[in-house]
Amino acid sequence: MSLVMKFGGTSVGSAEMMRRTADLIEKFKAEWGDVVVVASAMGTKPVKVTDILLNGSKSARQGDKAAYESAAVQLRETHDKAIDELIESTEERAALKAEIEGFITRFLDICGAIWALQEISPRTADVIGGMGEQMSVRVIAAYLRQRGMAAQALDATDLIVTDDEFQSATPIIELTEQKTKAGLEPLLADNVIPVVTGFIAATVDGVTTTLGRSGSDYSASILGRALGSKEVWIWTDVDGVMTTDPRIVDNAQTIPVLTYSEVSELAYYGAKVLHPRTMRPLVESHVPLRIKNTFNPDHDGTVIVTRAEDNISPQGVKAVTAIKGLHMVTVEGRGMLGVPGVAARTFQAVAQSKASVLMITQSSSEQSICFVIPEDTAVDVVSHLEDAFAEELKNRDIERIGQVDQMAIVTAVGSRMQGVPGIAGKMFTALGDAEVNIIAIAQGSSECSISVGIRESDVAAAVQAVHELAVEASR
Ligand code: ADP
Ligand code: ASP
Ligand code: MG
Repeated sequence: MSLVMKFGGTSVGSAEMMRRTADLIEKFKAEWGDVVVVASAMGTKPVKVTDILLNGSKSARQGDKAAYESAAVQLRETHDKAIDELIESTEERAALKAEIEGFITRFLDICGAIWALQEISPRTADVIGGMGEQMSVRVIAAYLRQRGMAAQALDATDLIVTDDEFQSATPIIELTEQKTKAGLEPLLADNVIPVVTGFIAATVDGVTTTLGRSGSDYSASILGRALGSKEVWIWTDVDGVMTTDPRIVDNAQTIPVLTYSEVSELAYYGAKVLHPRTMRPLVESHVPLRIKNTFNPDHDGTVIVTRAEDNISPQGVKAVTAIKGLHMVTVEGRGMLGVPGVAARTFQAVAQSKASVLMITQSSSEQSICFVIPEDTAVDVVSHLEDAFAEELKNRDIERIGQVDQMAIVTAVGSRMQGVPGIAGKMFTALGDAEVNIIAIAQGSSECSISVGIRESDVAAAVQAVHELAVEASR
């Protein structure tokens, strides 16, 4: 049975990192036999190829030709530098650079069209955004071949079939399974290492889609499921999933075991280490997922288990996350008690604007409904709500649609929190001691998480305070 290994942007961000990554591929190919590699676009922080591509297309829409042309130069330099440092044969180097140049020419052509029309559709953004992966897999596969491994670059547009929700497409399981098996199994049988683009896929008609930003993790789990792989490993730049973002809190620690629901909750509430939908394809097939560090490969990292009985973690808070850039909206008024279906109509109006709601609270008297959405969707959501409740606002049954900007959500996660009495109390006390004002509270019905809405300016203090509970619980 196969092993799917996904390498994130940093793991393929430079020639040096690609060498390290190739060492790992060589090692695990020898151990596992069948290995499928999934790769992200080159992305040594803070310069990520996907951002260069997408920002370039935005510049084109804004009429800034110089900016997208300089993006093309940056793309060429990044890839050519890696090729020069990795590929020894003059012919191979030239052939690879020509392939990269083909993508850059296409990027420039599409940006030219966007510039002329001053418009960019989600469909076009997906074609541009996905080019980073298409370029990186070609470089990686060529380098693996130079090292004596049989490797072949593949575009996942030929393997993963999705709906046409551009920028956040969902795979169609059966079609994906058929295509993935047909595309990859013959290669594996021939001892070839497929090096597949993360992030991108295609509709039934073959139009390129993407799985959402950071979607390469999801690509790996989709392929793992389609192939019936034994395990899926995500290689990144930290020692697995940690008690909180190690960039924010110094004493963040690796969590050895997490359940599917814990990690999904963490990812949903902002832990950038894994795409929120990654676990979904693996749950029913019980394929374990590991998160490991390319810089520290001997560390066990984190394993995500799908069965609750495999969760051997201590009780209490396991991890804490934060999302910033949010906006709270409150629909309130004393007359709401008599207004039929307020909640349903509220969320219907929100759905029209396609905003995703991150947190909902309702006062029991039904005098207010409050929810938190991304800041950039606020204007649209509020205008839909004002339309939906025009009559009630006029009659003053609904007094106002209140708004608080610059909000954040801090979430404590741990599936065994319910076994600990007063965990919410502990969390609120810790926040109170840190002088963080809690604006809204919500508890996931699975009791796997507790979220609080707070001011964005309080995030660092809040995360630090709740993180101490996680450190305490892990002792
Ligand atoms: P990749 O390019 O490999 O996909 P990402 O940048 O998407 O890497 O994800 C890894 C980063 O996620 C880490 O560098 C870390 O800063 C961040 N991160 C946020 N929350 C967590 C967490 N709870 N555990 C580990 N890493 C986290
Ligand atoms: N390259 C894509 C992005 O930056 C996908 C990924 O890295 O997972 O969003
Ligand atoms: Mg990522």
